[in-house]
Amino acid sequence: MTASRGELKYEGKAKRVYATANPAEYVVEYKDDATAFNGVKKAQIGGKGAINNAITAHLFPQLEAAGVPTHFIELLSPTEQRVRAVTIIPVEVIVRNVAAGSFSKRLSVEEGTELSRPVVEYCYKSDALGDPLINTDTAVALGWATPEQLSRIRELALSVQAFLVPYFAARGVKLIDFKLEFGTLADGTVVLADEISPDTCRFWDAQTNEKMDKDRFRRDLGGVEDAYAEMLRRVTAPAS
Ligand code: UDP
Repeated sequence: MTASRGELKYEGKAKRVYATANPAEYVVEYKDDATAFNGVKKAQIGGKGAINNAITAHLFPQLEAAGVPTHFIELLSPTEQRVRAVTIIPVEVIVRNVAAGSFSKRLSVEEGTELSRPVVEYCYKSDALGDPLINTDTAVALGWATPEQLSRIRELALSVQAFLVPYFAARGVKLIDFKLEFGTLADGTVVLADEISPDTCRFWDAQTNEKMDKDRFRRDLGGVEDAYAEMLRRVTAPAS
């Protein structure tokens, strides 16, 4: 089934969200635009929109089958997907298996240090503030989410973690960390929204520790397009 795009509801750094004739559904269009350091660094990554759309469309139905409700309905075109309309909860959820990025800096823990258990962190989704780290009390006190929603979000984030770690390991990839966003449907159900892609995860090659994600862009490592294309190949490959 197709869903023709209506009014542009929201434009973010990497995606556009359009209304459709059905108020319960949106169309998400993935862009090639890449930003880092809170929008200070900007570029286009050729083919990124189609790759991130395809990776998300491959993973979300499998997460759904593993018991994680998601907003994904179907792929519409190389760069578009049909999704259930949600109200995004403005709390970004980061799950970490290995120290990297802001965690390494903040705590002076060498990048690559294995964490003895997954660490779930929360940030306030605000470009203006640079997505500051918060805790769940802050999110409740400021009315961004209820305690029940936050406990469901944590449970779902750990279910995503439990699915993704072995999934990537079976494809020669270490999942270092990742960021999730959740939304609510009209009836209040909390579902996984946004994307799971090399823009929102750190992926290291299991053999070489080579970075295969947006850090290649953030850190000017080169080979950005090739790394994204290789991640699509691995995500869609059978387990080995
Ligand atoms: N991340 C994201 N969007 C953000 C911030 C982080 O998708 O606005 C992802 C990032 O790609 C990484 C994980 O969340 O996989 C943890 O990022 P970190 O807090 O280390 O931030 P960074 O070092 O990217 O600033």
